[in-house]
Amino acid sequence: MTATRVLVLNSGSSSVKYQLLDMTDSSRLAVGLVERIGEEGSRLVHEPLAGPGARGGKRERTGAIADHAQALRAVAEELAADGMGLDSPELAAVGHRVVHGGTRFTAPTVIDDEVLAEIRSLIPLAPLHNPANVTGIEVARELRGDLPQVAVFDTAFHSTMPEHVARYAIDAATAEKYSIRRYGFHGTSHAYVSRAAAALLGKAVEDVNVIVLHLGNGASASAVRGGVCVETSMGLTPLEGLVMGTRSGDLDPAVIFHLARVGGLSVDEIDSLLNKKSGLLGLCGDNDMREVTRRAEAGDDAARLALAAYVHRLKKYIGAYTAVLGRVDAVVFTAGVGENAAAVREAAVSGLEELGLALDLEANAVRSPEPRLISTDYARVAVAVVPTDEELEIATQAYALVTS
Ligand code: ADP
Repeated sequence: MTATRVLVLNSGSSSVKYQLLDMTDSSRLAVGLVERIGEEGSRLVHEPLAGPGARGGKRERTGAIADHAQALRAVAEELAADGMGLDSPELAAVGHRVVHGGTRFTAPTVIDDEVLAEIRSLIPLAPLHNPANVTGIEVARELRGDLPQVAVFDTAFHSTMPEHVARYAIDAATAEKYSIRRYGFHGTSHAYVSRAAAALLGKAVEDVNVIVLHLGNGASASAVRGGVCVETSMGLTPLEGLVMGTRSGDLDPAVIFHLARVGGLSVDEIDSLLNKKSGLLGLCGDNDMREVTRRAEAGDDAARLALAAYVHRLKKYIGAYTAVLGRVDAVVFTAGVGENAAAVREAAVSGLEELGLALDLEANAVRSPEPRLISTDYARVAVAVVPTDEELEIATQAYALVTS
């Protein structure tokens, strides 16, 4: 039997998201989520999408799930109940989302002891993310050590950024000593969406220059020339760049010194302030764009300000990346906000006619899960909405590696 399935695992600090895909047709066989691992009220929601189990719909398990090992064992049991367990001969690989690959990992990599040790050594660069990714890998290896486990890195797609783009203008020796440079994140999404945008335009990926705006709870922009990333808005960590749900994005680094010296805040307090209590949440008290736009439409001043700041930053990046690319074929919106918030897309593009951007407002208002163009026929630069699919991209990259 040919092994054509890939299990994709995205392990967070207290959650595991998973999908089982069949790579013959990129179909989903099962999807699920374990949340509140090690906390009160942990639960697993499993949805088989193929086989006899699919008729029964979603299944939910509640009760204590103490750690990632227990969580993955429960996931394996649910999959086994649908005849798609980890021991199934159809399984070709497990694809693990790993947030930080540093400068060492620029492509998907089959995990052995040495690779795992190197991913562990990158924990200081991504203290919130890499530890959970490592735990997920360790547990999956315990469950199916003989199966190829592939790490797919959020940073990898951005490793092609030229050195003068990736470097901060700080003392070179200090930067080298502490691995300080711009790495970029959301790479699997930027890779998938830039390719899908080329397909939507009916062109080869090598022939198009695109600006991708990944606007989820975290948000980042990238400039992709002929399929190669040349610039992205996130940096050493996901804090840099756009205004996000709870992150500030760009700010004068001296804000941090000021908060420490004048405000007496500790480094951890400032870290938490800028990552968890800033962005839309900091400006208006809500981080969900649905709520922010609803309040803004109802005339709420703080929500209007937050929305205006969010959109202003987007415009700045569209302008900057137009300058970086020289010629832009498409500006592409993706992720929760980018795919759903027509008002944000309209505001971000409005007034940019000089850059060749013009929206077809009717097309922009249509809701659809399909990739689609929302620019006018006469616009020089296409504007598109392309739903992202990070799990499919991870599975595709992992499968290509183990079958090559
Ligand atoms: P994550 O970064 O967590 O993967 P998503 O890409 O799923 O996030 O995006 C989540 C965000 O998308 C939510 O916080 C919400 O602000 C936004 N969102 C989802 N649906 C809508 C909608 N219909 N209108 C506006 N914003 C939306």
